[in-house]
Amino acid sequence: MTETCRMILDVDTGVDDAMAIFYAVRRPGIQLEALTTTFGNTDTVIATENTLKILELLGRPEIPVAQGVGRSLIRPYKRMADHIHGSNALGDVELPAPKIKATDEHAIDLMIRVIKENPGEITLCPVGPITNVALAITKAPEIAKLVKEIVVMGSTILHPGIHGPIAPMVDANFANDPEAAHIVLQAGANVTLVGMDVTMTTLLSTDMMDEISREGDHAAQTLMKITSFYVDAYKTMYPGIQGCGLHDPLAVAVAEDPSLVGLERMYVDIELNGELTRGSTVADRRRTAIPFHNANVAMTVDRPRFEAEFMALMKGH
Ligand code: CA
Repeated sequence: MTETCRMILDVDTGVDDAMAIFYAVRRPGIQLEALTTTFGNTDTVIATENTLKILELLGRPEIPVAQGVGRSLIRPYKRMADHIHGSNALGDVELPAPKIKATDEHAIDLMIRVIKENPGEITLCPVGPITNVALAITKAPEIAKLVKEIVVMGSTILHPGIHGPIAPMVDANFANDPEAAHIVLQAGANVTLVGMDVTMTTLLSTDMMDEISREGDHAAQTLMKITSFYVDAYKTMYPGIQGCGLHDPLAVAVAEDPSLVGLERMYVDIELNGELTRGSTVADRRRTAIPFHNANVAMTVDRPRFEAEFMALMKGH
């Protein structure tokens, strides 16, 4: 890729968010303009603190962090992922309290401002519930056409979905705010979905983690300590998996290099009312021909290439 990907990364940090921040910061082709925070894996205040901690760990305290919303559009937030991400959402690894602070600007206003100042230049990459993006588009609908692309970690077309007390065929991010996902998909923006169909086939194995712990720098080693809690949770959820899915890092990688995945144009929307299906991505694949599509959906992934690139970045060479 020759063109630099100028990115605003929207995170609910979170173990795999921490890996995604690492990827976005260290990948030469990505210029991380700002991080914005949301609820999801944990509450927004903890997600913000974790994001600041990870930036300090990576030695990049100058990257702006703006805190966003604390709940979905219509339902109050319930913290339900401590068993997956740890009670501090960083695998119960205690990092030093951050010296840097979030900006005074709200995440939504930061998104709108940066996109308007740089028309056609900015890629939004939400890897948590997409409430901040939905509200930014609601407040300033013109940004839908000014943003270069919105690359979303969310959706599942064929994967059975996450474990937990919600409907099958649903990923965690869309489950946490289906209405926000609906708003973003209907906004007329250039949307790419990187969902469980591909993120669950890219695996950080325990062997890969050992290799990173041996060869990576202090930040990479710390990240592997954080990730081991997450991998233990995966053992319970997906017996025999011996690793964890690389959800958020893959979305960041695809934002820079879409050739990592096979994209299918689809007309997709989110089920909002179904008793058994709320939050599920309904894909009308009969309409894959232009102009009846509103999203590019990643259906296949070049797993060896992505994992090799991820490993090279984590090991620093
Ligand atoms: Ca996330």
